[in-house]
Amino acid sequence: MEHGQICKACQGTGMLADDEGWQYKCRICNGDGLYNSADVRPSEILDVDETNRILD
Ligand SMILES: [Zn+2]
Repeated sequence: MEHGQICKACQGTGMLADDEGWQYKCRICNGDGLYNSADVRPSEILDVDETNRILD
């Protein structure tokens, strides 16, 4: 596949889960499990903490 890469945040599942088992759509890849490296910058990957905050 040349059109994208497996999302490292969710490992291609499109979903993320926190330590308590909450699952939510991966905001890095918008739930499709893939992202284009040209569209995602490392700073955005690190921004995943903002998603965790919503679950608080
Ligand atoms: Zn993802």
